[in-house]
Amino acid sequence: MLQPLRKPSEAEPGRLGRLAKLPVFFDLKDRRAVLVGGSPGAAWKAELLAAAGAHVDIYALELSAEMDALLSRGAADGSLTLHRADWSADLLTDPALAVADLDDEDEADAFAAAAHEAGIPVNVVDKPGYCDFQFGSVVNRSPVVIGISTDGAAPILGQAIRRRIETLLHPSIASWAAVAKHLREHVMRNLSPGMARRAFWERFTDLAFQGRAPESFGDTVQTVLDRIASEPAARTGRVTLVGAGPGDAELLTLKAMRALQSADVILFDDLVSEDVLELARREAKRLMVGKRGGRASCAQGDINDLMTRLALQGKQVVRLKSGDPMVFGRAGEEIEHLEKAGVPVDVVPGITAGIAMASALGVSLTHRDMAQSVRFVTGCAKTERLPSGLDWQGLADPTTTTIFYMAGGTAGAIAERLMEAGCSPTMPAVLVSNVSRGDERWAGSIADLGWASERRDPTKPVIIGVGRVFERAAKANDRGLEQPLMLDATA
Ligand code: SAH
Repeated sequence: MLQPLRKPSEAEPGRLGRLAKLPVFFDLKDRRAVLVGGSPGAAWKAELLAAAGAHVDIYALELSAEMDALLSRGAADGSLTLHRADWSADLLTDPALAVADLDDEDEADAFAAAAHEAGIPVNVVDKPGYCDFQFGSVVNRSPVVIGISTDGAAPILGQAIRRRIETLLHPSIASWAAVAKHLREHVMRNLSPGMARRAFWERFTDLAFQGRAPESFGDTVQTVLDRIASEPAARTGRVTLVGAGPGDAELLTLKAMRALQSADVILFDDLVSEDVLELARREAKRLMVGKRGGRASCAQGDINDLMTRLALQGKQVVRLKSGDPMVFGRAGEEIEHLEKAGVPVDVVPGITAGIAMASALGVSLTHRDMAQSVRFVTGCAKTERLPSGLDWQGLADPTTTTIFYMAGGTAGAIAERLMEAGCSPTMPAVLVSNVSRGDERWAGSIADLGWASERRDPTKPVIIGVGRVFERAAKANDRGLEQPLMLDATA
């Protein structure tokens, strides 16, 4: 039966969700800050304030070893001045910020009240009730500064996030951003606003993310400029086929992330998860182009034409496909069409559903005692019936592992054909729906595969594995281990 066709529908990027705290970047260069206390916590705050260029007046009667050490080594910027005295309200008349580490509740209350009286933002270390602002964790690639807040809920989590960002951002980003400051003026003078400037900064960013310091291109701003100028002229549009993986955004590649971040338009299938789309550039236009067995979808020809038209207008088009674009994703047809139209195409691989399923079950698809090959097989021809021309004899080979895609509706027929071709009814089989997004699993043998499939949730994608390597998963089912299984074929 022919599917009714529908036009691509545009999805709104969605409104900004609630913000626990507003991240702002406060200019403290040559401003005065008051810091009360000599504790290790106070020392860290003093160092942060001074590193940001503040002249910090420290009021403390006793000094921790940390504060002592800080005072003797000095800060990277600003200044630190120690006053061996208690604080009083008259100190709080003109500083830009006031910070204190005070154990005593009454004193903390008095300090916050005095600062408020003078209209000065205040922070009392570890006493959120008296804080107008919080410090958060910092990733320092100055002039690039990243602040992380968990709204006080989980500082250790905040630090772990900071470490992740540290590993993602090459330290040379700092020098690139510094070079950018020098280039700004040149760009403003020589390039017209809009496309030309944006193309320049995109080429600049491409270089910056190569993980090499700008100095490696030469030692002057001019040599860096020359290098950028020698890159291909203003970016033409292009299409990047991007694998979105099975759903969990953590499974995206760094390249996929970057493609999503630089897209003008994203054409996505309905199996692509919200979590992945959320990582796309906010300004990117999102177009759902469907494609799912049993549901209305855009015609492939329309998708091809749309991608081509947008790329020829100079747009960065991301064609976002679930799993890997090169596995049952019609990438071949799309690439051919785009190449014919002279549109440059790149492909960013993704984690295909079958491979994600193997990880979810902890099953090695090529366990050397049980399988010498893996096959990805479609269970559904365009007609929604079993595809003709499948090599059932080959698929019944007990030394191969077979992963069936798009086979929810044909699982029973697949099992029958395998058994007819000589496959034992006790051959292990698994069926996992919605891999990586709160998946539901069943494991048993092919004799029960049709039974299990009939009980699946038909609104969720399902992936099926057949082969001896799944024995482990089937046994886990018998023992009813860990993961609750959605079904029990033996019941
Ligand atoms: N390119 C995709 C496959 C697209 S075909 C990939 O590499 O994964 C669509 C089929 O993929 C679905 O019918 C289903 O069999 C499988 N699939 C995709 N995402 C899935 C998921 N999260 N869980 C289970 N199966 C999935």
